[in-house]
Amino acid sequence: MITAARNDIKSLTQAELAARLAELKQPAYRAGQILQWLYERQATSWDAMTNLPKPLRAELAKNFTLQTLELVRKQGARDTTQKFLWRLADHALVESVLIPANPALYGEASDRHTLCVSTQVGCAYGCKFCASGLDGWKRNLLPYEIVEQVMAVERWKAAEMRNSECGVRNEKPEPRAEVVPHSALRTPRLIDNLVIMGMGEPLANYDYLLKALRILNAPWGGGIGARKITISTSGLAPQIRKLADEPEQFRLAVSLHGATDVVREKIMPVNRKYPLRELTAALDYYQSKKSKMLTFEFILIAGVNDSLEQVKPLAALAKRLYAKVNLIPYNTVEGLTWSRPDEKTCEAFLAALVKQKVIATLRREKGHDIDAACGQLRLKTEKEIDNALNH
Ligand code: SAH
Ligand code: SF4
Repeated sequence: MITAARNDIKSLTQAELAARLAELKQPAYRAGQILQWLYERQATSWDAMTNLPKPLRAELAKNFTLQTLELVRKQGARDTTQKFLWRLADHALVESVLIPANPALYGEASDRHTLCVSTQVGCAYGCKFCASGLDGWKRNLLPYEIVEQVMAVERWKAAEMRNSECGVRNEKPEPRAEVVPHSALRTPRLIDNLVIMGMGEPLANYDYLLKALRILNAPWGGGIGARKITISTSGLAPQIRKLADEPEQFRLAVSLHGATDVVREKIMPVNRKYPLRELTAALDYYQSKKSKMLTFEFILIAGVNDSLEQVKPLAALAKRLYAKVNLIPYNTVEGLTWSRPDEKTCEAFLAALVKQKVIATLRREKGHDIDAACGQLRLKTEKEIDNALNH
């Protein structure tokens, strides 16, 4: 059963929590105490909140849930790209990917980590290169399910550090430590960058996404700067305009993958609904409001969009919309026929873009071997579960 958004405490903003506590006739300072337990001390049970009177803890338990994500699988080794597969309350699976700092990819230099988070179970947009949409769309993630991906990775890291301090080597540390001890609090947070680029189309889950990002951005919550949060979209033009009108300075990445309608349509069905003329008009509006550099994601797929003919229109769009271009060699997805171009083709595409005076990078990534693109670990696990049940 899916819990209603208002019922989980980590789906609430500070103001909403204060209002709910006022209804329960609690003094205003309790909201601050509870938020501190949730986001600073990373408590995962009401009983861990020892400075709250017992009757209040019982009242909270009656009125809210305090749910955590269950880690079912982790791939990748320390200091490399690591993938986390989570099971939600209704047993749906979603992924997050932890990426060690890579200043060239998403903007400013960082000595910490980027977390790529999911916003939906599955995806309705069916891009032809993507594992996330292969089984269709199941549901939107609730705000706390987005927030919890960050908190659960932070708890995992804190538990790992505790274990290594005790000399215990354990790849899967205890997932349900009730509260992070003070000693762990003195270490800086692991994650200081977010990319909303996991499973699902974030702007199709607009309200819950914005709520979650506000909680993750707030000083009383996740404390991650808005400029360090990048939302990636396949190009939902009306929602891009809406986002332009929000006060926060979140960054925007657009999955372009084709610089002309003919090519983009072969790759992304959404281009029929919002063709480039409409998408770029929305981005013009976005830029008129934000004047921040955009990112274009451009997956290079052999024989589909890697021809140098794409370079000129791509450069024109990048210059007009003040965007840099991330070239990403396609990751093969089981069940899909496309393939990645050879290295020479990717390098030539990059060189041609740079010659057009576009800021561009080519991902020469390490994640290929662990199914780095989002959606793939979930797909694999679901297939394995199916196989286990059928044999
Ligand atoms: N729905 C949003 C965000 C999630 S997927 C969107 O489409 O923007 C977006 C990104 O995941 C893509 O732009 C690409 O960077 C990456 N990605 C997905 N499948 C991939 C694959 N097979 N190979 C390489 N990158 C992939
Ligand atoms: Fe959905 Fe993004 Fe994958 Fe397209 S690329 S199917 S929009 S998750």
